[in-house]
Amino acid sequence: MTLESGHGGAGAVSFRREKYVPKGGPDGGDGGDGGNVIVRKRENVKTLSHLAGKSSLAAERGRSGSGRNRHGADGRDLVLDLPPGSVVYDADTGERLADLAERSNYVLLRGGRGGKGNTHFATSTHQTPRFAQEGLPGQLLRARIELRLVADIGLVGLPNAGKSSLLSALSNARPRIGSYPFTTTVPNLGVYRRDGRDVVIADIPGIIEGAAEGHGLGLRFLKHISRTAGLLYLIDLSNADPVSDVHTLEREIVAYGEHYGDELASKPRLLVGNKLDITDSERVELFARAFPNETVLTISVATHKGLRTLGNSLLEAVHGTGDDKDM
Ligand code: GDP
Ligand code: MG
Repeated sequence: MTLESGHGGAGAVSFRREKYVPKGGPDGGDGGDGGNVIVRKRENVKTLSHLAGKSSLAAERGRSGSGRNRHGADGRDLVLDLPPGSVVYDADTGERLADLAERSNYVLLRGGRGGKGNTHFATSTHQTPRFAQEGLPGQLLRARIELRLVADIGLVGLPNAGKSSLLSALSNARPRIGSYPFTTTVPNLGVYRRDGRDVVIADIPGIIEGAAEGHGLGLRFLKHISRTAGLLYLIDLSNADPVSDVHTLEREIVAYGEHYGDELASKPRLLVGNKLDITDSERVELFARAFPNETVLTISVATHKGLRTLGNSLLEAVHGTGDDKDM
């Protein structure tokens, strides 16, 4: 998409005309500045669909100055409201110009300065300047706007815990590309939707496979997940020692925090034991009792047992309790 800031308005050439004064001094006003191109973070904007199909957008030009030292009006800014997680790149150089995960406001392109009117050019030896400045041109940018994933819930678990299966079981529909915040580098994204409310769940790949050391996809992804409401620990109850699996995951997340800030480790977590269908009830009990101060849910993705209860917990974690529909 091409973005353009406004051209500055021209300064005016004008001379005072007063009764009985044949020729007054210069009074040409300055041109207005061209409008800026601004990007702004908006929490209630979820997608880039409002920009789809727009190939170019421009801020307004500054108006020309006029006589009697009248300043031309500044051009109106072009303001693009973007969802959190949007990143704006220069499409030609690949340079990252704005990252709305970091700041909520950027002036992408400044409008051209308005030209000075001839008032400014009078000197003692040259009292009737017949020139004024042109406004400066605006700037042009070929921009690429991307949305990075903003997941509500991060899903963590050892390989084979059933993360992928859970995501597809919870997602009533595969998220349509473009209708959800997404990025090409994020592999596993699910959307749980009930009563018009969405919970975006992201499988964090490679959290165990050296993510904290910065290998592979994991790290890049973990950065994006640090803004989630909470983490869902998915534990395979049929494993030899499910309780120690929880501690393994904990350590991994803490290790990540030591390197890159500990927001992640301080997120609320929901412990979910999976594969009820192939686990005897004694082990299930044992697992639940190992974390007496936390909510522990047990499910079977295979039989869908407990999935609705899990869905309730997710909706509650992300949208708050009760029936209050979010806007
Ligand atoms: P991931 O590595 O965490 O993504 O795990 P997957 O979703 O790929 O699942 C690993 C294996 O566990 C697959 O063979 C699944 O079919 C199986 N699996 C997942 N959930 C359940 C469950 O509730 N019960 C049983 N018996 N198998 C499950
Ligand atoms: Mg998987």
